[in-house]
Amino acid sequence: MPPVSLTGKDLTLRYTMAASMRIGIDLGGTKIEGIAIAGDGHERLRRRIASPRGDYARTLSAVAGLVREIEREIGEAGSVGVGIPGTISPATGLIKNSNSTWLNGRALAEDLSRLLDRPVRFANDANCFALSEATDGAAAGARVVFGVIIGTGTGGGVVIDRQVLIGANAIGGEWGHNPLPAAQGIESPGPACYCGRSGCIETFLSGPALARDYGGGVTAEEVAARALAGEASADAVLGRYEDRMARALGSVINLIDPDVIVLGGGLSNIDRLYERVPQLWSPYIFSDAVTTRLVRATHGDSSGVRGAAWLWNE
Ligand SMILES: [Zn+2]
Repeated sequence: MPPVSLTGKDLTLRYTMAASMRIGIDLGGTKIEGIAIAGDGHERLRRRIASPRGDYARTLSAVAGLVREIEREIGEAGSVGVGIPGTISPATGLIKNSNSTWLNGRALAEDLSRLLDRPVRFANDANCFALSEATDGAAAGARVVFGVIIGTGTGGGVVIDRQVLIGANAIGGEWGHNPLPAAQGIESPGPACYCGRSGCIETFLSGPALARDYGGGVTAEEVAARALAGEASADAVLGRYEDRMARALGSVINLIDPDVIVLGGGLSNIDRLYERVPQLWSPYIFSDAVTTRLVRATHGDSSGVRGAAWLWNE
């Protein structure tokens, strides 16, 4: 397709007719990443810019500018999906629950649709991760997928038949702030969480939580490396971590019975989780046999931005 200048109504028409190009935007707290993928998932272009931290108006124009730049370079209009920290409140249409606090209370969906003169779809970044992996990643072909990002926090998302389960309150999959199941000893009431509760799953399964259980001073990845090297105390910490993950995922399996659970984020690189956690979760699951697979994300750090693009996948 030859390069064309794309503006206004002309673009709206072209995007509905040629929806094969999908643009995904991952709106992060420190960077904004944009990707264009073809209908078969092949990546055509990727661009990354710094987030205008603390400034909503500049964030809005940066996202719109990134979309326009991608379309100009490719010479084609596309559908636009955006992954956001937080979610859009069904009650108000405004962003809520975002740790990029300058987005909270803002009408990002309405503002961006108007700026780009087309419908734009939005989803929480963990939901985008789950959608990406369910569409053409580690859970491709699975009907029910639970995706978890375990890094500085523990985001989660549910995808059923390649559709994100957003939910009545737009918090579908937000499992990290449930209490850790079967908590005992020092696990109850458990560490204070930034959400105001104590003993949330996130306070046990995040990277900082794993590092803290070891005694601090090293990262979660370093604890895993030491366990692999045979250090007994690191091995014990990781064993506790695996049992907690088994309990936390066991309750997910009882509730939505996923075909596949996909792990992403920094801690998903710990190899032994995939073998040991399924060995530990059976006592917490109400079933004679458990066929749910626990797998590592295929697309790594790209899953968020790819999933945003796949918000248009019909
Ligand atoms: Zn919490």
